[in-house]
Amino acid sequence: MAAAPPWKKPRNAGPVVWWMRNDLRLQDNPVVRAAVAEALTDQRPLLPVFIFDPRFLDRSFYGRVTDPDFKKSISTRKPVDFGGRKTCALRALFWLRCVRAMSDAIAAKGGRLLVCHGKPEDVLAPLPAGSLVVCQSEPVSPEQTDVEDKVEEVLSKTHGELWRKWGAMGLYHRKDLPFPVNGGPGNYTELCLTMGWEDLWRSPGRTADAARIRVPVAAPDAWPQGLAAVDLPGLMSDQVLRDDREALKFLGYSAEEIEEAMSQELPEAGEAAAQKSLEKWLREQNEEPKDLHEPVLWDLPTGGGGAKGHDALQWANLAKPDGWLRISHYMAVGCISAREIFARAEESRNFNGVAHRLLWRELHRLNAIRWGRRLFWLQGPGRVERPWSWDMKLVEAWKAGLTGVPYIDACMRELKQTGWLAYKGRKTVGFYFVFILGLDWRIGAFHFEDVLLDYDVAMNYGNWVVVSEVDKSSRGAHGFKTVEDLAAWKMEEFEWKLSAEKKNDTSGDYLRRWLPELQKLDAKHIHEPWAMSEELMTRCGCVLGRDYPMPLGGPFRMREEVSEEEERRFHPNDSSGNRYTYKEFIDFAMKKGYDANFGKKCWEEAQPISVLQEENQQLRQQLQAAEHQLRSLQSA
Ligand SMILES: Cc1cc2nc3c(=O)[nH]c(=O)nc-3n(C[C@H](O)[C@H](O)[C@H](O)COP(=O)(O)OP(=O)(O)OC[C@H]3O[C@@H](n4cnc5c(N)ncnc54)[C@H](O)[C@@H]3O)c2cc1C
Repeated sequence: MAAAPPWKKPRNAGPVVWWMRNDLRLQDNPVVRAAVAEALTDQRPLLPVFIFDPRFLDRSFYGRVTDPDFKKSISTRKPVDFGGRKTCALRALFWLRCVRAMSDAIAAKGGRLLVCHGKPEDVLAPLPAGSLVVCQSEPVSPEQTDVEDKVEEVLSKTHGELWRKWGAMGLYHRKDLPFPVNGGPGNYTELCLTMGWEDLWRSPGRTADAARIRVPVAAPDAWPQGLAAVDLPGLMSDQVLRDDREALKFLGYSAEEIEEAMSQELPEAGEAAAQKSLEKWLREQNEEPKDLHEPVLWDLPTGGGGAKGHDALQWANLAKPDGWLRISHYMAVGCISAREIFARAEESRNFNGVAHRLLWRELHRLNAIRWGRRLFWLQGPGRVERPWSWDMKLVEAWKAGLTGVPYIDACMRELKQTGWLAYKGRKTVGFYFVFILGLDWRIGAFHFEDVLLDYDVAMNYGNWVVVSEVDKSSRGAHGFKTVEDLAAWKMEEFEWKLSAEKKNDTSGDYLRRWLPELQKLDAKHIHEPWAMSEELMTRCGCVLGRDYPMPLGGPFRMREEVSEEEERRFHPNDSSGNRYTYKEFIDFAMKKGYDANFGKKCWEEAQPISVLQEENQQLRQQLQAAEHQLRSLQSA
């Protein structure tokens, strides 16, 4: 037989390795299908591998995991000296259990999953020559892309290859996008319209030429033979993998961290559990809704809504108090794909809500790809210059849920303990961190990276830059000189959020659940303990400064009776009769080229409309009385 021409690659030299990452499932996984198909076609053995990379588990400085000397970043990005764990023990435990479930699923097909602890470029280096490694690429994460580059480099030394597959991490395949993957619209509404959604804020209709969403693919039926003997560095024995405590120890967690994680209740792990959870949610959607209560708006109205304290758009915009699908932790590790959720929810009556949310996810993924390392800069992709604080005492108080602001503290304790926090909680604690305490947003985002069970780089950092208003140059209040000015500007918005939460939890049950020191406070004061008299504090056994902290950045004014309309004021420099909020006063000043203090001064000098209305009423009464007096004098 004639020798193969030199340009023809030998395709059956080494094994095919399915390097599993955050695609821990067999259903709707184009990556495993590609690996299996390649192995079967060329009769190569298949080796499924999962690697716990210590760089993404251990303590590290912010942004230094794969770029320790900041060589890949802009020169003005100062080396930072804050950091933390990349993954807390609780998330590692959940991840571990998902990997174990995957190992069982592969064993049921006659294969064997190898689980290792080490840098992928070290673990995969001793693979037989000519190995083909197939993985799901992580274009949203520069750190993970760096790792892929390193693996590719190491494989090339032994004539091996790395195939980076798009997979099904996102809803859309990159080839189906109507724009280059790193050049799409950065705004939600525009993105939806470009993709062919008619008006996803209200209905799930799509145009005839809408970008296609591929249907989920089945798990591979056949399974290739495995590799007889292979010893990779950092291999975890089966015995260790099966034992939560031993496995966490193997991954470098301390006894204390392990015990803390083991004491928590975790959602059931793995692909089957994710499917079960989705099915349960779908069933519930077809039942009559039990609770028609809508939350009071907790952001400033976004859609011109806000009537009677409710804003339909806020509701649509992810404001469910306890989460909705509760599926993000499964999506983060890839136990279920976005397009499977999409396809299965299509028949449900809440399909609109599902599509709406999955498109937010898509926006954050596409933004992360477009922004690359800029997503992680202090100034954000918007290059916003603002005063920041690095007061670590404030940071620690926030992390521990000891700020003295009950809603913030309850959220932070829930997060720390369970790894979960509802969207609006995440948004409000982030807002408080950035705008009231004035702290460097990256410290808050890194803490979330450590503790969130559903941590996903694009969703976490993407949402943080939005909350911090550094995502676009048009946002973010350029021109502020001090953190105090910034806080004054945002105070109204923050008090609004706190007041809405008070109305959403009138009994204070949510706060009491997480804050034992406030157990004895009545419903009136639990949201604002600073409003208690000294005598009441003593009676409740909760003296501020002794049993519970004084509110950092506060005290805050709760808006129980005051409506937004009454809080507006006429602007002395605007004779058109427009009624402005405090925030709008500051915006107006800055638009005119003044600093925030000028806006603040104008606000203080202007009269609230409620006061003017009252004065107006009094004047009208006086006028009526005078007219009455005049008439009686005339008739006398
Ligand atoms: C500061 C901050 C950090 C966040 N960090 C993460 C994170 O690391 N991982 C993560 O998955 N989500 C993150 N989110 C988004 C959101 O809070 C969670 O996705 C949501 O609370 C998960 O609950 P659920 O599954 O019930 O969501 P649902 O409301 O049922 O939504 C269904 C799915 O849609 C996606 N989705 C919904 N809202 C958003 C959103 N705003 N941005 C992106 N995707 C969304 C998620 O995949 C979610 O699971 C963050 C939000 C904020 C404000």
